[in-house]
Amino acid sequence: MTWDFSTEPEFEAKLQWMREFVRERIWPLETLHDELGWDGLQRAARPLQEEVKAQGLWAAHLDPELGGQGFGQVKLGLMHEILGTTPIAPLMFGNAAPDSGNSEILALAGTPEQKERYLHPLLAGDLKSAFSMTEPDTAGSDPTLLSTRAQRDGDHWVINGHKWFSSNGSIADFLIVMAVTDPDARPHQRASMFVVDADAPGVKVVRDVATMEHPHESFGRYGNHAEILYEDVRIPAGALLGAEGAGFLIAQQRLYPGRVHHCMRWLGVARRAFDMLCERSLYRYAHGSVLGKHQTVQNWIANSEAEMQAARLMTLHAAWKMDAEGVAAARKEIGLIKFFGAKVLHDVVDRALQAHGGLGYSTDLPLEAMYRYARAARIYDGPDEVHRASVARQVLRGYEAPPDGVPTEYIPARREAARRQFAEMLDAVTAND
Ligand SMILES: Cc1cc2nc3c(=O)[nH]c(=O)nc-3n(C[C@H](O)[C@H](O)[C@H](O)COP(=O)(O)OP(=O)(O)OC[C@H]3O[C@@H](n4cnc5c(N)ncnc54)[C@H](O)[C@@H]3O)c2cc1C
Repeated sequence: MTWDFSTEPEFEAKLQWMREFVRERIWPLETLHDELGWDGLQRAARPLQEEVKAQGLWAAHLDPELGGQGFGQVKLGLMHEILGTTPIAPLMFGNAAPDSGNSEILALAGTPEQKERYLHPLLAGDLKSAFSMTEPDTAGSDPTLLSTRAQRDGDHWVINGHKWFSSNGSIADFLIVMAVTDPDARPHQRASMFVVDADAPGVKVVRDVATMEHPHESFGRYGNHAEILYEDVRIPAGALLGAEGAGFLIAQQRLYPGRVHHCMRWLGVARRAFDMLCERSLYRYAHGSVLGKHQTVQNWIANSEAEMQAARLMTLHAAWKMDAEGVAAARKEIGLIKFFGAKVLHDVVDRALQAHGGLGYSTDLPLEAMYRYARAARIYDGPDEVHRASVARQVLRGYEAPPDGVPTEYIPARREAARRQFAEMLDAVTAND
């Protein structure tokens, strides 16, 4: 019987190193992010990245033969909880989205040539990448509707389509593009993935879409989301990733572990907001006491602590299941954490922001940025509603409708059955009376 919630001491020491490093060396850089710009941030990142490499923590999501650490999902999850406390820490650890997921795709489905040309430089931090799947004109929540087409033309593929929300698309050196290769195939076998150089003729980055997270128009900023036109983009046959028609299968392998990492990063953000909530509760005085003595604020603290603990255990359990039984076995658990974790993040940040009043709403604290970040979590990687529907479908597979339409727990029918089952005992009891 193993049912163990402890972390092995050797790895706990690494986590402790990460906690200090992220808090002392990376959090301060957050405040300079805007004035540094993308180039400046990359320069500031280099010495930090070297320290991470020296600790053996670089690109921990990949196997050792690819220059990674081969950590399983539980270890990665614990690591992401620390890195998630600031949006720039993953960059220092070689596992920032979307590069980390894209490197997993290349590791999983890339040919030796693709690994040589894209994966190794990506891992070394010499290239940036983007994942280009969502389209403005079709529902991203139902990717079987994708309209971007890749057509075979001799030794080439020709891609035509319109994408948006390709994160880091405007600073990427290459894009992993999902396009329909066989519109007549079964829905989940219609699309394939391609590696496309960002400077290939016909790739047009129209703009970076201003969002709630970055509301001001900007271009070429790390973390922006690009709108991209693919107009007769001619790429060699060798740009196909994996088998033709395997796009969804590969996407699944990439997205499942990515969701565990997202959820653990959200918990890192939630914990940081929670610490601010607790600190505020101890010094802000209103209506006869500090906020922490008012019951509403106590409820916020207790509920937040309980919800974060629940989300953390659920997420680590999903990670453990992936390690123990493989990615596909954890499908339901991953659906659960995606919508539950996003709600916990949102609610904890919201309470912390509320407790800070006008200060919380101002840009003098990171809470308003966390709030905007939290809102996106309910949309990307599949909106809440899609994950809830998927979980419900999987749960319902374990049930059957009662054959006669009478609920299994219907008390009059159960009482009749119990009378038959215990007829002798009932007779005896009645006789004794
Ligand atoms: C910050 C951010 C980063 C992103 N990064 C990337 C990226 O790098 N690459 C990329 O390709 N895409 C990316 N996306 C896009 C993201 O994956 C899509 O926005 C998402 O899949 C939803 O697709 P959609 O926007 O087309 O919404 P739609 O599919 O139009 O859905 C709109 C709404 O419809 C509702 N809905 C949908 N299905 C159901 C249902 N079955 N039941 C009930 N309601 C339903 C939901 O409320 C949903 O929010 C990113 C998005 C964000 C916000």
